[in-house]
Amino acid sequence: MFKFVYFFGKDVTDGKSSMKDLLGGKGANLAEMANLGVPVPPGFTITAEVCVLYLKNNEYSKEMVQQVEEAVDKLETINGKKLGDPEDPLLVSVRSGARVSMPGMMDTVLNLGLTDKSVVGLAKKVNDERFAYDCYRRFIAMFGDVVLGIEFRKFDSLIGDKKKELGVKSDTDLDAEALKQLAERFKEVIKLEKGFDFPQDPKVQLQMAIDAVFDSWNNPRAITYRKINGIDDKWGTAVNVQTMVYGNMGNTSGTGVAFTRNPSTGEKKFFGEYLLNAQGEDVVAGIRTPKYINTLKDEIPEAYGQLVDICQRLEAHFTDMQDIEFTIQEGKLYMLQTRTGKRTAAAAVKVAKDMVEEGLIDKETAVTRVQAEHIDLLLHPRIDPEAKLELIANGLPASPGAAVGKIVFTAEAAEEMAEKGEKTILVRTETSPEDIGGMAAAQGVLTVRGGMTSHAAVVGRGMGKPCVVGCGEIVIDTKNALFKVNGYTINEHDYISIDGSSGNVILGEVELIEAEINNDLKHILLWADEIRTLGVRTNADNPTDASLARELGAEGIGLCRTEHMFFGEDRIPVVREMIMAEEEKSRKKALKKLLPMQKEDFLGIFRSMEGLPVTVRLLDPPLHEFLPNKEELDEKLREYETAGNIEKIAAVNKIIERVVSLTELNPMLGHRGCRLGITYPEIYDMQVRAIMEAACELAVEGVQVSPEIMIPLVGHVKELALTRQKVCELADAVMAEKGTKFDYKVGTMIELPRAAITADKIAPEADFFSFGTNDLTQTTFGFSRDDVAKFVPIYQKAGILENDPFAVLDQEGVGEIMKIGIEKGRSVKPDLKMGICGEHGGEPKSILFAHSIGLNYVSCSPYRVPIARLVAAQSTLASRNK
Ligand code: PEP
Ligand code: MG
Repeated sequence: MFKFVYFFGKDVTDGKSSMKDLLGGKGANLAEMANLGVPVPPGFTITAEVCVLYLKNNEYSKEMVQQVEEAVDKLETINGKKLGDPEDPLLVSVRSGARVSMPGMMDTVLNLGLTDKSVVGLAKKVNDERFAYDCYRRFIAMFGDVVLGIEFRKFDSLIGDKKKELGVKSDTDLDAEALKQLAERFKEVIKLEKGFDFPQDPKVQLQMAIDAVFDSWNNPRAITYRKINGIDDKWGTAVNVQTMVYGNMGNTSGTGVAFTRNPSTGEKKFFGEYLLNAQGEDVVAGIRTPKYINTLKDEIPEAYGQLVDICQRLEAHFTDMQDIEFTIQEGKLYMLQTRTGKRTAAAAVKVAKDMVEEGLIDKETAVTRVQAEHIDLLLHPRIDPEAKLELIANGLPASPGAAVGKIVFTAEAAEEMAEKGEKTILVRTETSPEDIGGMAAAQGVLTVRGGMTSHAAVVGRGMGKPCVVGCGEIVIDTKNALFKVNGYTINEHDYISIDGSSGNVILGEVELIEAEINNDLKHILLWADEIRTLGVRTNADNPTDASLARELGAEGIGLCRTEHMFFGEDRIPVVREMIMAEEEKSRKKALKKLLPMQKEDFLGIFRSMEGLPVTVRLLDPPLHEFLPNKEELDEKLREYETAGNIEKIAAVNKIIERVVSLTELNPMLGHRGCRLGITYPEIYDMQVRAIMEAACELAVEGVQVSPEIMIPLVGHVKELALTRQKVCELADAVMAEKGTKFDYKVGTMIELPRAAITADKIAPEADFFSFGTNDLTQTTFGFSRDDVAKFVPIYQKAGILENDPFAVLDQEGVGEIMKIGIEKGRSVKPDLKMGICGEHGGEPKSILFAHSIGLNYVSCSPYRVPIARLVAAQSTLASRNK
């Protein structure tokens, strides 16, 4: 016969902890505790399968009804009491319990079995009339609320009236008579609201409560909770019917919650709180302040000793920190629940590391106990979750961590303030490469426009700088040095706080919790390195970031964006000179000045990455990005015209002319990437020379270098073939000049659909592929990566897109194109090394995907390197278990 009901108790227990899908987390662990001989009030679990069938058919099978009846009989026999017995009634609780915990989302009914008759019996039996009527009035209200759907406040207000009538303040001041009258009134409310009497048959009460718990699976808050937490609607909930025990039977009774370790620090110390003479909900409701668990040792020593012992056993048995609920009834301890304890990031790391040392778990398990989000939290300052915040706006969470500062509207202002030791938040419509200095000087960056791969987002992540972008609600008024948002006016130098992990913009100065990379985390990451097969590199374009990334575990550079080196204060004038040059000769002259500067950067980068591969990408962005913007120039022109400065007017006019000539309607699809290198070969020549001269000098010194030169935005194999040939000729020539020789590679980015689709043609010309998923997403969706903030959040709300595809890789579309690229590339070069260097390389879901489709490495900003190491190991473990 099909089993719908599982009993648990001292002598008979049908279930076990591995049956969570069927019995729910609570039911399965109650069974497990009973199996372990832990004192659990006996009861039974009706399976989640019954819930699914009931919600579908709106009725129960005959077998199920019969099995519940048998379980009730068994429960009555074990307790030596009968439901509804007018002398000595059995009372039960009815609680929900899904396979994953959904705290407070579904319903619970306590003290079920009380009736007008049985309450009298209970009063006599415990010799406490007040206690009995207190239970009764609680039960009627709970039943009215949970089972019959009557608003709880209708009962609650009657309690208020009663207290007023008697001139008392607290519920505990109400005597037996008052509680008896309240019970009567509550029954009247039910009659009035529902048109029928409060049921006096406990079997009817029980059936109605079971129905209500099953129905609560589909209440709106449970549905929302499941949606947010990705819980399957089809699972259903189990129902647990359990003998009531009472923590409110005087001072040798009590109830509490505890963790086997400190859930906030992870410290191995019993942690919890309790109340004497109280019921479970009193601890949670916060009406009385609970006491720390260790004082229970003096108040009820025997139960305390037993509790500590049981908790240790449970932790050892489940091999994880447990979160438990207990009740002591007249000195006797009962365990009501045990489950895996929720914990902070710091605690997750410490508990995992400690448990390996204690021999409780192995390293593999430890690596799965820490989440990517935990690391993200630990590596960046964050807002105290308890802090009260005045939210003024919300944008895209572009670079994690929180920052506090006075607002400024220009990069220069941020730098000036930083020199005075002042903290700022740089607020810009959008950032451009010229703002780099200001971004570095500010605590955080907030932009009105831009998406998850916009300049501010990419640079912010690279710097580990908190950043909120695309906050379109903000209107900047530069003239009056303020911005307005949602009815607030924020003036220059007013304080705001931003949270780059949630996208929140908050009024004023918020207290921050500092970042911490501790030894425990280092251990977990080293264990992850032992497990993972996926390589982890970094995106870095200066020696400082490269060294930081190496310290954080990067195994090389996967993307060095050389254009970022063009923006130093001393460089931009030379870069502009190069762009302004009208003919090749003057362009070469300017490039000659740039050469030593780029070389110096490469020396630093190669040195800090000694022994590891360094992928350097040749210039990619359209040239106009390096010139001042047209509005600024027009303003300058007006200034010079007013002052009559003829010389300067001519100079500015010349720049304007060049800016206009370089202006493109779609610069991201325009004159950029290898197209630049092909049309202005001298630019790439200078870069290749700088890379190779730096590498040669170090090689001569005995430093091990492995440069990998990467050609961006290739769509046709001939673009690569032509560029590669020139790169190789020059590279070989430089090595010959310097009298040294070492291996170098020339590869390409795959960031256009055409490149992926023709990867079998491209592969023979490439030593490696690196998927530039930022541009690949842009060109696959046809979404401008800098303008997505205008519509992608709305697409997400409308359910068109689950995630922002510039943050989480779109596996269905972009991912399929990548698979084609990998397959075709390897069809002609089976060992072709392939990685990903778009922003997705540091995003957990995308890392798992990158591993699953056979990439060799991911490359991400330095602060995401530890996350990638962890997730890569988790990916290996998951594939081992398949
Ligand atoms: C990319 O397109 O994914 C990439 C890494 O290049 P960039 O972001 O510099 O265009
Ligand atoms: Mg790109």
